[in-house]
Amino acid sequence: MEERAVSIISGAASGIGRAAAVRLAARGDRVVIGTFPGDPHDPAITLDAVTAAGGTGMIAELDVRSTESVAAFAQAALTAYGRIDHVIANAGILRRAEFATMTDQEWDEVLQVDLHGVMRLARAAAPYLGSGGSIVAISSIAGGVYGWQEHAHYATAKAGVVGLIRSLAVEYGPHGIRANTIIPGLIETPQSMDPVNSLGPDGLARAGRTIPWGRVGRPEEVAGVIAFLTSADAGYVSGQSITVDGALTVA
Ligand code: NAD
Repeated sequence: MEERAVSIISGAASGIGRAAAVRLAARGDRVVIGTFPGDPHDPAITLDAVTAAGGTGMIAELDVRSTESVAAFAQAALTAYGRIDHVIANAGILRRAEFATMTDQEWDEVLQVDLHGVMRLARAAAPYLGSGGSIVAISSIAGGVYGWQEHAHYATAKAGVVGLIRSLAVEYGPHGIRANTIIPGLIETPQSMDPVNSLGPDGLARAGRTIPWGRVGRPEEVAGVIAFLTSADAGYVSGQSITVDGALTVA
């Protein structure tokens, strides 16, 4: 019998990462739930949901700003399960800041997580991925499609993710390893529900009514595309960006 795949997921204690962990575990992957130390979100909720879905998983600490932490996270997956098949680079932060007064520190804080964090996780796992393995990174319509006022650092990072993933698709294609990006629109998660840095509950509800679909997206609707991109059904799909936005950006 073929050994079950192992999927490692950053930022899996909440939002899209949690939904991805549950979805991939439900199809049989063993999932490694990356949890940010000091994270207000409880990774045990993700693990409970994984178990309730009949899946197998474990929690491991991960700070994508640190090369050492990322290496330890990959090692935890290898020690527990002996392999890594899919990397879901999902962790991200959002910080509202006007461009002209943005400090280098504010700029760097976002870039370190949203761009360099994706690079670090993919780089740490790449040597262990075999043919059939894949990387999925989460970009955003901010940067992936649009600009976003007071979020130049975020949009820059998210645009960078698209270029990074295209390059990995080319570099690792000869090894049978695929790399793709998902570009979510507005998805109801702790990040978008933050009224300071993002739209907040009221802004999100208002924005939802302007989307052709008539509502914002659910984390599970992104997780479904992650499941597709990490499956054999997407076996010839690499270097691509798939927008998941209820037709927001084509309206
Ligand atoms: P979320 O806040 O629930 O998830 C982000 C996760 O990243 C959290 O669990 C957080 O603890 C983790 N994280 C933060 N800093 C970290 C670090 N240094 N190391 C490791 N983990 C860290 O929000 P979400 O919406 O589920 O976000 C998931 C991804 O989707 C992010 O990359 C986000 O930018 C992207 N995204 C979200 C939306 C949306 O509307 N929600 C839209 C486009 C893109």
